[in-house]
Amino acid sequence: MHEIGYCEGVVEAVVRRAAGRPVARIGVRIGALHRIVPDAFAQSFQLVAGGTSAEDAVTELVVVPAQATCRGCGAVFETPDPSAVCPDCGDLDVTVTGGDEVVLEWVEYADAAAAEQPDERVPAHTHQHSPAGGR
Ligand SMILES: [Zn+2]
Repeated sequence: MHEIGYCEGVVEAVVRRAAGRPVARIGVRIGALHRIVPDAFAQSFQLVAGGTSAEDAVTELVVVPAQATCRGCGAVFETPDPSAVCPDCGDLDVTVTGGDEVVLEWVEYADAAAAEQPDERVPAHTHQHSPAGGR
């Protein structure tokens, strides 16, 4: 489950903001290119957050699609795929922008009066940039 790597960054940010207060719910905005499965994210979050002030928090994910522009015909479309193919002309020469953010949008505490909207970008501790099999 690669969702674990994302949860580490999110839990870190939530725990830092909560400063010991029990967290009830959090909202996370995540780019579609990360291919997060919401159920897997929720499970991973419970694992990573265990023993912290965020351990009982309910996670609400909003998946943001990437914007793609076809350089062949100029079509603009939304895609979850970093190597998208133009749906209009079938061109492979497509520029994909966005869809790569991980943002902690809001935190709601057990004391509901203390909700926050940090809109904080969270570093994802993923291993996608490590060399596969070396050079
Ligand atoms: Zn096209």
